[in-house]
This record gives sequence, C-alpha cells and structure tokens, in this order.
Amino acid sequence: MPQTLSQFGEFPLIDFLKKQTFRKNKDVLEGIGDDTAVVSYTNDKYLLLTTDMLIEGVHFKKSMDAFYIGHKALACSISDIAAMGGMPKYALISIGLPAGLDVAFVKKIYEGMNQLAKMFGVNIVGGDTVKGNKIIINVSLTGEVKKKNLVRRSTAKLGDNIYVTGALGRSYINGGHLTFIPRINDSQYLIKHIKPTAMIDISDGLVADLRHVAKASRLKARLDQSRIPRTKNATISHALYDGEDFELLFTASAYKDEKLMRAQTRGIAFFKIGEMIAGRGGEVDMIDTNGKIKKVLKKGYIHF
Ligand code: ADP
Ligand code: MG
Repeated sequence: MPQTLSQFGEFPLIDFLKKQTFRKNKDVLEGIGDDTAVVSYTNDKYLLLTTDMLIEGVHFKKSMDAFYIGHKALACSISDIAAMGGMPKYALISIGLPAGLDVAFVKKIYEGMNQLAKMFGVNIVGGDTVKGNKIIINVSLTGEVKKKNLVRRSTAKLGDNIYVTGALGRSYINGGHLTFIPRINDSQYLIKHIKPTAMIDISDGLVADLRHVAKASRLKARLDQSRIPRTKNATISHALYDGEDFELLFTASAYKDEKLMRAQTRGIAFFKIGEMIAGRGGEVDMIDTNGKIKKVLKKGYIHF
C-alpha cells in the first residue's frame, strides 16, 4: 500500500532525507537538523546557511498586506540566523507568481523585504522569478557567527533554565506572524553577556520546538505553566501549541538567571519558563498551576 506524506509525517520525512542525502564532511559542522547549516568560513567565523519557503494559502493569504508578506518571508530566515547567535548577510529571493497578479502586489512584497533587509544590513544579491499558480516566496539567507558565539540546539545542560524572549500564542490571529521583528538584538545580547547553552526560534510551537532542543540535547524539559508568558487572549494551549511566534527559546545555566532578569530594563525581555531535567531525551512535561506534573500533547505546527 502506498503511504501518503500525511501518514508518514514531516519529521520522519526530514530524517529520511537526512539519511539519504547528508554526508558529514569536515567542513560541515552542522547539516540537516539545526536552525541553519553551519560550515567552515574564516579563521574565527562560521558561515550559516538557511532557506525558507512561504506558500499562499499555507503561510499567508492573498488578502493580507503584501508589504508584510515580504517582511515575513525574510524575517523567518533572519530568525533562524538569530537562533544560531549569528548576524544575517546575503539573501537570494526566488518567487513563483500567477500571470494575472497585480504588479503593485509584487512591488509591495519587495518594499516589505527591503525595509527589513535595511534594518539588519542584509544584502539581496539575486534570486529567480517563475510563473506559478500560487504565490510562492523562497528566501535563502547566509549569515556569519564568531566561532565562540555559535549556539546549537543540541547543547542544553542538565539543570539549565529554559527561557523565551516574549509572549506566545495566537500569532496567526493577532497578526504577529506577519509583523514580528526577528530577535537579533536579544540574540546578540545573549551571546555577549549570557552564553546560552542551546537556542532555537519558535516556528512550530513552544512544545514542538522545545522537544527538538530536548531531543538533540538528550534531556527532558519541564515547563512551569504559571510562568509561560501569553499574548492577549491566548490560552495556555495557544501558548504551548500555536506556531509562528518567532520568539527565541533558549537554555542557560541557572546562575545566569539574576543577570538575565536585570537585562529586562534594556528593551529586551527574558522569561524563565522551565528547566532541563534528567529523563528520556526529547520528553517534555509541565507543572500545572496546582503544582502537579502534567503531560503535554505531541502537537504543534507540522506540515504533514
Ligand atoms: P526551521 O523551522 O528552523 O526552519 P525546519 O523544521 O524547517 O527548520 O527544518 C529542520 C531541519 O531540516 C533544518 O536543518 C532544515 O535545513 C532541514 N530540512 C528541512 N527540509 C529539508 C529538505 N527538503 N531537504 C533537506 N533538508 C531539509
Ligand atoms: Mg528555526
């Protein structure tokens, strides 16, 4: 019996592709499996590589503001660079467009992209344009990170605290998924002053992305329900499982907590939401508001 992608699942598919295609080479520090690939570059820096695709009807609707569709397309990739502790550099933009689309719509997409590119010093250096029956935008982005500043998903330590950089949930409803500013400033503060042990950006949802960190770090993660910051009208379930918050989720040694809390006055915010504990690698649970340990669901934004 043929198996469909939805029966097989997105992550098993990526694991399969990883086994099929990825060959570890000494110049490749991180291939498939982190927010960006990490490869050899200069004496003191690594090159970061990431690509993200947005499709009409899946990641945005045509009725949404084209400026922010462009903004989001680039912001998603910058967010992945931030999650590694890096700074974005060069972008290639490939677009698929229906022949009947208003030219002004495309111009707006690029205005949104350009504004964000300027904000973070990204240079758009090329791309590709093709006809399609839906709007498709693919952004490939490079970045740089000082070797000593690289932060991976797989290096959280037992007893570390877990933090997020902002409120979670309902980003698709409140528009946050379109207008968010990637957390480069928070990331730069963290690598300079805190040295987080692991980091990821929240694209699939808090629990789903925390599970990636826990699995890669071979630890269990325990959330504290009462501490999870939520956006307006978001329930705990929205905060745990909605995707596309694009906040950073990171772990840091418990003794850094005081310094992190002091940093709150500098226009960036850090919220302690749990800790890394011993247990089955990749497991996530939560202390509820009555102090009881509760299971969390295996859900989040998964394509198939
Ligand atoms: P993110 O949400 O951080 O962008 P994804 O969940 O999309 O990350 O991808 C997880 C990892 O799998 C990344 O390292 C990514 O490069 C890799 N990956 C995803 N899709 C493919 C594919 N079709 N071929 C090869 N690698 C892939
Ligand atoms: Mg990511």
